[in-house]
Amino acid sequence: MGIYLYSQKAIDAYKKKRKRDAAKAKKTLEKLATSSPVLQALINKKASQMAWAMQKKSPKKKAFEPPPAYVFGMGKDFYKTREWREVRYKALVKFGKKCQCCGETGGYIHVDHIQPRSKKPELELNIENLQVLCEACNIGKSNKDTTDWR
Ligand SMILES: [Zn+2]
Repeated sequence: MGIYLYSQKAIDAYKKKRKRDAAKAKKTLEKLATSSPVLQALINKKASQMAWAMQKKSPKKKAFEPPPAYVFGMGKDFYKTREWREVRYKALVKFGKKCQCCGETGGYIHVDHIQPRSKKPELELNIENLQVLCEACNIGKSNKDTTDWR
């Protein structure tokens, strides 16, 4: 019965107002976000959490795989550990994203163990044993050569 009390004009006006209010709220939020890096970070964090949740819901996407815990002598899984990724990243910061042998900057950059893991596994997380090489140089070097190109 209630619905007959509202004219189409009133309903349209109400819808218009809601749209206006939503636009205004969005604008205010955007203004706030750009004015404060803290809020911007919070909004970005929320957005990435939502994207993450949506990705998890989707059956097509691969489920999140936590990095394996580092243990000495773990073989290929070593490259998935947080410990390796941290020291690898530090090496890239220290030496730059450029092949230290030939100067190549394009393509996939490798962080190479100067003394190969197979021979000196105790140095696998030592940044002093790392150098940045392009794919071609790293494949050329293989695990036989131990030239320090830094
Ligand atoms: Zn190279």
